[in-house]
Amino acid sequence: MLEYDSEVRAIIDAEWERQSSVLRMIPSENIVSDDVLEALGSCFVNKYAEGYPSKRYYQGQENNDALERLACARACALFGAEHANVQSYSGSPANMAAYMALCEPGDRTVGLGLNSGGHLTHGWKVNFSGQLYEPHQIEVDRETERLDYDEVAKLCLEIRPKVLFIGTTSYSRAFDFARLREIADACGAYLVTDIAHVAGLVAAGAYPNPVPYADIVTMTVHKTLRGPRGGMILCKAAHAKALDRAVFPGIQGGPHMNQIAALAVALGEAARPEFKAYGHQIVKNAQHLAAALTARGLRIVSGGTDCHLMVVDLRAKSIDGKTAATALERAGIVCNFNAIPYDPNPPRHPSGIRLGTPSLTTRGFKEAEMERVADWIVGVLDAPDDEEKIARTASEIREFLKAYPYHHRAGA
Ligand SMILES: *Cc1c(COP(=O)(O)O)cnc(C)c1O
Repeated sequence: MLEYDSEVRAIIDAEWERQSSVLRMIPSENIVSDDVLEALGSCFVNKYAEGYPSKRYYQGQENNDALERLACARACALFGAEHANVQSYSGSPANMAAYMALCEPGDRTVGLGLNSGGHLTHGWKVNFSGQLYEPHQIEVDRETERLDYDEVAKLCLEIRPKVLFIGTTSYSRAFDFARLREIADACGAYLVTDIAHVAGLVAAGAYPNPVPYADIVTMTVHKTLRGPRGGMILCKAAHAKALDRAVFPGIQGGPHMNQIAALAVALGEAARPEFKAYGHQIVKNAQHLAAALTARGLRIVSGGTDCHLMVVDLRAKSIDGKTAATALERAGIVCNFNAIPYDPNPPRHPSGIRLGTPSLTTRGFKEAEMERVADWIVGVLDAPDDEEKIARTASEIREFLKAYPYHHRAGA
């Protein structure tokens, strides 16, 4: 492989070495199976397929059509959806398509604020969602750090948005999708739920499924769902036409068929019993880690987690999130700094870090390993300037990980 390009080969090898020798705790990352990788690197990378099955703008489509139909059928079966679109290049364009399918520029929207756990595409001012539409943001309750559904209802009745857009990048609590549907109905809004982070947990039955309640459900497929980088959209049959038109020709040209091949493989893997166990283990690991960190004197935003991620409030340790994340990285623990709700500190040096368990669970970590992980994390946070201890931690982790093979084969 890459015999003639030793420069790129060397960089790929270095990245494989890095990934396999550290605790990867960024909740939006995972480790795909060899089968997903193989499909992603297949000959579909060579093929154009603008349009939809049986309605393409290029010839030579019989295999593209079969592949896309298979991916859509697997998606609908896995999530219980009426319609699936598998062409979105990624999560952000999937969200753009949802807006385009349901509203006009200038329409009012309500989304979850960034510091409360929402995503840029839920109405943040520098994002298209904040510029093309009139965004209003909900924040979590100051005390509970959870959504107060009565407040959401009050705001929505006041604003009367066209779309209520709800999803998480760092909100660790399960959403009450039935209640959100009621709220949307009461104010005449469409409900879009963005399950980018939790899609795999939903597929595994380890997190509530919004598909029965939402007009449109968007997701990335490369986070807990453990597929290739990409997006996917599910919707009610009534929105199918508008949604497909929004994706193509509204936003995109030709779909990445190699990505769709890899997605089809990932959806097949996610339908297996082992994936159910995997999804539940991710959540058990996150809950165990949250409890272990709490027992060691740290505060978890909202008190815990119902999914794969948590935000840790570091103020008790007198260290900011950025300093913590860089010290942790030197120790072989890779996460990201993150704001806490109503963060008193600036975005570049917020008060928290965000941790997730999907990659570690793919490697085979269970509750017992989470105790070790908690010890390592707290050890670093207690002495972020002790470079000797940090180097010792990094080599301990490197040794420890040798028992947890990096390449993952589904079902193995
Ligand atoms: C990751 C994420 C996205 C964006 O996905 P990209 O593939 O990075 O564009 C959108 N919404 C939420 C909630 C996410 O977590």
